[in-house]
Order: sequence, then C-alpha cells, then structure tokens
Amino acid sequence: MDSFDEVLAAVQDYCKARVTAPAYSVFFQRLELDPNFDGAHVNIITRAEFIRTSLVSRYMSLLREAFSAVLGFEVEVNITVEAPAAPAPVPDAVSQTILPGAGQGNLGNYAFTFENFIVGPNNKFAHAAALAVAANPSGAYNPLFIYGSSGLGKTHLEIAIRLEIQKNHPEFNILYVDGEAFTNEIITAIRNNATAEFHQKYRQADVLLVDDIQFIGGKDSTQEEFFHTFNNIYEAGHQIVITSDRPPIEMSLLDDRLVSRFQGGLMADIQPPDIETRMVITRAKAAQLGLILDDDAVTCIAEKITTNVRTIEGVINRLTAYREILDSRIDAADVMRAIKDVARIGTFIPSPQLIIRESARYFSLSEEDLRGQNRSKNTATARQISMYLVRTLTNLPLKDIGAEYGDRNHSTVLSSIRKVEELIKEDPKFAATVRDITSNINSV
Ligand code: ADP
Ligand code: MG
Repeated sequence: MDSFDEVLAAVQDYCKARVTAPAYSVFFQRLELDPNFDGAHVNIITRAEFIRTSLVSRYMSLLREAFSAVLGFEVEVNITVEAPAAPAPVPDAVSQTILPGAGQGNLGNYAFTFENFIVGPNNKFAHAAALAVAANPSGAYNPLFIYGSSGLGKTHLEIAIRLEIQKNHPEFNILYVDGEAFTNEIITAIRNNATAEFHQKYRQADVLLVDDIQFIGGKDSTQEEFFHTFNNIYEAGHQIVITSDRPPIEMSLLDDRLVSRFQGGLMADIQPPDIETRMVITRAKAAQLGLILDDDAVTCIAEKITTNVRTIEGVINRLTAYREILDSRIDAADVMRAIKDVARIGTFIPSPQLIIRESARYFSLSEEDLRGQNRSKNTATARQISMYLVRTLTNLPLKDIGAEYGDRNHSTVLSSIRKVEELIKEDPKFAATVRDITSNINSV
C-alpha cells in the first residue's frame, strides 16, 4: 500500500462488503483521507455534518476494523467535516421551494443538493441522470424528464441540478419555474398580447427547469406556446429538465408533438424507496436534526411509512418537537404517536374553493365562470366536474355544494354529479380529464 488513495479505496471496499448499498453510497462513497498521517491517527474528511454524525454513531467500529485490516495495525480514527468548496448560495427565486419550513427549526432548513440526496435502487437511475446533466448541461441527455409520485424527490433533484450548474457556470441564465406558475404566465401573456416578451425571456435561457409539467395538460394555447419555447431552447442546444407526476404517455391531454419531444430525451422514473433505503433516509434525516433514534424506532418508521419521503420527514420533525417538549429519549410509543399525528394532519381535504379554482384553470376559465350562470358547453362541463369533485373529495352535503355556486339547488347539483359519473364510465378521455384535475388538486 503506498498511497493514501489506495488505503482509502481498500477501506471503502472493506466497508462496502459489510453495509447495505444505499448506506455505502451515502456514508462511505465520498470520503477523503487527510494525507497528514502520523502513524497512529487517521483523519477522515466528510462533506456533511449528518454523514459525520452517522459514521461516528454507527460505523466507528467498522471503520477501525477496516483500517486495521488494510494497514495491518490499529489506528485511531477521527472524522471531521469539511464543507465542499464555496457552498452554493440558495437563490432567492427558489428559496421557497428549497426552504419550505425555514425558520421552524425543522428539516425544511436544509438545501436540496446532491449531497443531501440519498441514493437507493429506487432512484439511482434518476440520480445518475441528474448528475450527468448537471455535469454537462446541453450534453447528450436533452430533455431530461424525471417522473414519479409526490414526495419522492423530483423537486429535490431538479434544484440540485440547478445549484450544481449555477456553481460551475455562474454566467448561465438558468430559468426555474413550476408548471403551475409557468402555465399562468403563458395565459397572462396570451391575454395581454405579450407573447413576444414571453418568448424573449425564455429564448434567453441557457437552462430551463420546469417542475410539475403535468399542470400544462389540456390547455391548448398554453401547450402551443410551450411547444415553441421548448423548440427554441432545444434547437439552440440548451438544456431542458422537466419533472412530472406521471410519464408523458400518461398525460392524456398532452399534445402528441410534446409527448414525442419528451420521449425523445432521457426519461427517468423514481419509485418509492424500499425498506433499506427508507431506513437510511430515516437515519440521515434524524441525524441532520441531531435526533438519536434507536434501531427499533428507525425500523418502525421505515416499516410504517412506505410511499413518501416527505411523510418520513414529517414524522421526524414531529419527533424533534416532542423531544423539545418532553426533553426525553424517544421511545416506541412516541414514534407511533408521531406517525398517527402525521397521518391525521396528512389527510389532505381540499377546500371547495381550491377544487373550483383548479377545475376552472384546467379549462382556462375563471372561478366566477364556474360559480356564475354561463351555459356554454365548456363552462357547463367544467362546472359539473367541479361539483362532482367537491362531492367526492370533501363529502360536503349537496345543499352546501349548491351554495358554492350562486345558490343552485341540491337537485341541480345531484344531476351534475350523476352526469359526470356516467361520462366517467362511458368515455375514457373524460375519465382521464377528471383524473388529471384531481391530481392537480392534490399536488397544490
Ligand atoms: P417531489 O417533488 O417528488 O414531490 P420533493 O423533491 O419535494 O418531492 O421531496 C419531498 C421531500 O423529501 C423533500 O424534503 C426532499 O428533500 C425529501 N427527499 C425525497 N427523496 C429524497 C432522497 N432520496 N434523499 C433525501 N431526501 C429526499
Ligand atoms: Mg415537487
């Protein structure tokens, strides 16, 4: 063994054979060794505090064992944190997305960087694709289309790409928009005859990141404008990254030309994490908050919360709050209570107003159109769908639903709901429309 690199590589191999793949990729893959070795102490450098904490609390004996196997003698192991050079500043425009709970002392305070993204079998392809694009924007993978259900890290990866490109190319004009804001911007531009300005703004993008593109489905004029914007950026050889809650082919109302453009790039899905990855995520998030969870607590969380990383974070935030209140060790009962709390708060019941707004938006109408008397076919359909959704999503009495629509009586509401139920059965395209609107409501 004549170089530190070789020692480190051998130590990493030793550990790799003894921990799970996700744990290896988070905690061991990116370690560095301080070259000042005095023969008795090795100094390992990590890039994040939560990695250091986890190595110290869980893997210290493994590391000692590894060094002693590789070097042939015992050494003391120290672990320190060295922040990556020039940590990327959090840009204002996206600070809301990056810091959803800023100031509340919870997990909302950490940045959506690659460093903080935990790789498992469920997301490793999307992660690798995101890294490749971040390292070489406008390279071979254009557009990159990342899809998966809510809370699985799509926005996290998209922002990580943004931060990485910003760090390497401060001169780049990077535009990040979410699909809803983008759609509204296009609609406003069309309404104000200002599409030229809109094109001008987007044509200058070196990188365009669109989060939650599914919001664009169905609105013809919006899709038309987006198609032109997309082509301009694409043909200029600039990078486009898109996320969605479903693959392009399942976006029923997406223009065929856009579907084939999206499919012509690189598509990467994110699946829910498996139990091992959930355990690594739970440990890492707890470590970030300085919360010590024993193995039973970690297993309990990872077994109960299976489909959404955001929910895992919710439980850990909750436990942190208990710790502050109770000033005690977290036990199994605390974990169960946190899970119940989050499940209760997490059952999202949208307001009738939100449902009406989203239904109207889908058909490029206003809320007043739906609440008012206009009987054009488009408006009537949007209104009926919204009534059906208010009923199914909130279970409000028919009378109260009628009151939301300028005091229509309950039999009008009922016949609208029946109509929608029939159409859903008869017409797959109509059923897809209702599904899309529901999904938009749930992702607001
Ligand atoms: P989506 O955009 O897919 O709905 P987000 O990217 O907003 O999901 O992720 C929800 C939360 O879960 C965020 O706080 C994010 O940091 C976290 N998260 C999701 N996946 C991972 C992961 N693999 N490693 C670390 N954190 C993750
Ligand atoms: Mg998101």
